[in-house]
Amino acid sequence: METGGPPAVVSKKTSLTPKAIIYQRFGEQACYKVEEVQESTQNECPVLAIPQKGPCLYRCCLQLPEFSVVSETFKKKKEAEQSAAEMALEKLGINPKTDNPATQDPWDALPARLSYLFSNEFLSCLHPLSGHFRAALQRKGHLYGLVPISVLSVYDAKLSGLFKSINPKVESDPLLIMSLMLKVAPRLAGSVSTSEDQLSMQRENPYPPEIIQTVVNQQSSLPETILIGAIRIPCSNEKTVEPLALNIASNDYYLDVIAQELGFTDASKVLISRTIGKASSDMRLYFCAPKSYLGDLSSGVLCSTEAVYSKESLNKRASYLSGHLIHGDAILASIGYKWKSADLSFEDMSLHTYYRILIGKIPSGLYKLSRDAVIAAELPGEFTTRSNWRGSSPRDLLCTFCRQHRLSEPVFSAISNPLESLRESSGSHKKLKVSESGNQVINEIGNDDGGRKPVGSRETFRCEVKIFSRCQDLIIECSPTKSFKKQNDAIQNAALKVLSWLNKYFKKLDMPIQELTSYGNVLDIKFDSELLLREFALGISVFTFWQSMGAQEGSVLESICINQLNGKLGDQMRHINIEGPDSGVSPSNGSLACIVYSVYLVTEGEYMKELIESSEEFEFEIGSGSVISCLESVVTQMSVSQSTRFHMELPPKELILASACDSSRILPLLTSGGCSLECSTTLLRVTEPLEDRMEQALFTPPLSKQRVDYALQQIKESCATSLVDFGCGSGSLLDSLLALPTSLEKIVGVDISQKGLARAAKILHPKLSAISDATAPSKVIQSVLLYFGSITVFDSRLYGFDIGTCLEVIEHMEEDQAHLFGDMVLSSFCPRILIVSTPNYEYNVILQGSNLQSQEEDPDDKTHSQSCKFRNHDHKFEWTREQFGRWASDLAARHNYSVEFSGVGGAANTEPGFASQIALFRREEECLKNVDVTHNYEVIWEWSSNTSKLSKIAV
Ligand code: SAH
Ligand code: MG
Repeated sequence: METGGPPAVVSKKTSLTPKAIIYQRFGEQACYKVEEVQESTQNECPVLAIPQKGPCLYRCCLQLPEFSVVSETFKKKKEAEQSAAEMALEKLGINPKTDNPATQDPWDALPARLSYLFSNEFLSCLHPLSGHFRAALQRKGHLYGLVPISVLSVYDAKLSGLFKSINPKVESDPLLIMSLMLKVAPRLAGSVSTSEDQLSMQRENPYPPEIIQTVVNQQSSLPETILIGAIRIPCSNEKTVEPLALNIASNDYYLDVIAQELGFTDASKVLISRTIGKASSDMRLYFCAPKSYLGDLSSGVLCSTEAVYSKESLNKRASYLSGHLIHGDAILASIGYKWKSADLSFEDMSLHTYYRILIGKIPSGLYKLSRDAVIAAELPGEFTTRSNWRGSSPRDLLCTFCRQHRLSEPVFSAISNPLESLRESSGSHKKLKVSESGNQVINEIGNDDGGRKPVGSRETFRCEVKIFSRCQDLIIECSPTKSFKKQNDAIQNAALKVLSWLNKYFKKLDMPIQELTSYGNVLDIKFDSELLLREFALGISVFTFWQSMGAQEGSVLESICINQLNGKLGDQMRHINIEGPDSGVSPSNGSLACIVYSVYLVTEGEYMKELIESSEEFEFEIGSGSVISCLESVVTQMSVSQSTRFHMELPPKELILASACDSSRILPLLTSGGCSLECSTTLLRVTEPLEDRMEQALFTPPLSKQRVDYALQQIKESCATSLVDFGCGSGSLLDSLLALPTSLEKIVGVDISQKGLARAAKILHPKLSAISDATAPSKVIQSVLLYFGSITVFDSRLYGFDIGTCLEVIEHMEEDQAHLFGDMVLSSFCPRILIVSTPNYEYNVILQGSNLQSQEEDPDDKTHSQSCKFRNHDHKFEWTREQFGRWASDLAARHNYSVEFSGVGGAANTEPGFASQIALFRREEECLKNVDVTHNYEVIWEWSSNTSKLSKIAV
């Protein structure tokens, strides 16, 4: 998507960039203002109707004292700035190439740059490095004027660039720079000399006294001594990371103070990592060169870093954080000189910051941080809709992850299909690649939001993601087969798959490759195991703590397992005391629950209670695993305005410390043992899933009520005494039945959602108590039972009922499962009457014309009523009248049932038919089978009138 101007003409050969030259001339007087320019949407291939939101481009305005210039637009801010600087130089009549006689050989440019750094001019200018030169003049005794070699390239981008061009490895190896520097040093003979230990440099001729005077007399706004919070990361993994205070007096060189903390006399031996965390921060690790290496240096023999490190142990945590090989203890601090001021600038670091950096290395940690809910939030297993997602999008999370691990930016390729309209497109379109089969168009997506929906088209999208190493080796490839109506959904889903898989991996970095491969298969992911190990190997010793909590959070994999095992693995339920009256409004899958919560660390007996995390308003989608499972299971049992308090298992202390701001009070509690977490929460509101909102808003009575009324009618007409509700969910049908006088004596509900069943039990409980008081209308009811199990599996206890209902359930199963259920119910459960309802896909046109629907869609999407989406993201399919008709008729014929069709909402003889279509099956023959006793379901809850007692089982 090169819609920008010509590429920036920044010659790599010149040693100074245009910006650097401008800076030399104008310093802070040169003011760059970069603005974003949104290129108008240009459809490069109109026939394909894939609109491309132009990439975000940048234009830079450079203001100099005399004039200003405005650059053309560029994809990168940097390019725009350089281009503006170049234009300014042109105006000033400066030719960077001739005026800066830099040669192509970095070995020549290096001494030139170094002598500039040691010049009078540099000492008095404001530069992140010049502060070190000034501080060197405050050093005492033999250290006076000595500048540690290690700081030179860390704080001078020019130098580090030159070293990089000599050997790209210097980026991850500070020691390598030291030895390269020593190779350059002899060429500065006469002006700059190297100290005896080969670790520092200094000017041979002292600075002129007047320059020293002005430098030393500079007013500082800092107090005499400053205390800076830092973190010590001991070399041994057994020792814990702990806070430390750097006590720096105004005449101290801060690196000397850090050196002393590391057990060395002075700064010369201190090495400095690249910045950690956000690129803008000045957070770095300080550590020392291995002793053997130092010995080698002074003896003049240089050996490779790797050889040195194999002899001595590695600081794995520090190395993992920085990507450098770090030996011995390390100190993490945010401190340094800036462009803007001669004073030292710093930020206090705490354990809190450290642990946040640490958990930010793994996908779920990144998500937790993006939600500012380290304890409560969990990386969702599913991206349902853009409007239900909270926190950073999966795609952004994946980009951040790659940056953090120094991998290349992930490459997303959206594939749109089918494209009947693909007529004249050809390879001539730069950005659209046509694959061999000719019916797929691959659209490489830039960093802009590629999520717009094609105008007036019915195509669907898939998206592939590739993760490459720094050196462009393909490490991970995810190619989901599922298609989406919206390109953005395809992208986000693919990104989330990669994140989920990586997350699994990080929680168990030593998992056998086989296991990882089978997770990969579930998520359409292939990977190169060797490269993977190489990239992430160090993490193994860093993330050990995570493994203890692997089982806690809901993820795609777990939910897939649940389906595969037909509900044998349920979501855990816990017994909690809920306060406040039941308002009847409860969240269900697909709704957004908004809660206020606080999590405390409590000691046994609650003698001590410390706040860890809280939120006044925290909204999350139910059913997608976006909060820790115990919290979700609690919230689904609550109704709006109810409150509760419950205990949770203690997560790894690393998570607690990343969440709590004040570790000093929490650490002693944590180490004393016997603590747990206590969570109090109130459900503030529930935003129902779109389907429910639609059913309530667009139909009177609401569609759900109409379905119940339909079932009631059949119960009455058939004088049924027993009813089983297949897929009873939270028991809305059963609940209505209790409120009315019917002939029913025995009522049973089955579902695979324990949450739904728990909710159902809670609703039925008070109603049944009222019945036992003999004042309620329905006195005939003998027993009510709730079973946990899948309706595609037989259980003889549900054999031969008078009526089976299965309302709005089949579309929540895969199509083959719906067929399986049909056969199972008519051939094995053999109800006298079976009522099945499911959405009529053709009716969606009407629903989507409504205002309700368009809220969910992109505002610019309203017109495309053709391309219908399903009413609920959990729907695996929605059938037309014809599809449903065929399913039901075939079934009836196979199992000797009759079937008649009807529905609720809309009308049979008006297009497009009923909103909910219903098939009513009637058994044509007596059912006299002898069934073997098979108990595949688990009784979750049971009520019977003769004992008039409520017994809760397995809750
Ligand atoms: N019949 C209820 C709930 C409909 S929602 C009502 O009309 O309100 C669909 C329900 O089907 C969910 O509760 C879901 O858990 C359940 N379900 C989906 N697949 C199932 C299966 N294989 N066995 C049992 N229940 C299933
Ligand atoms: Mg449904």
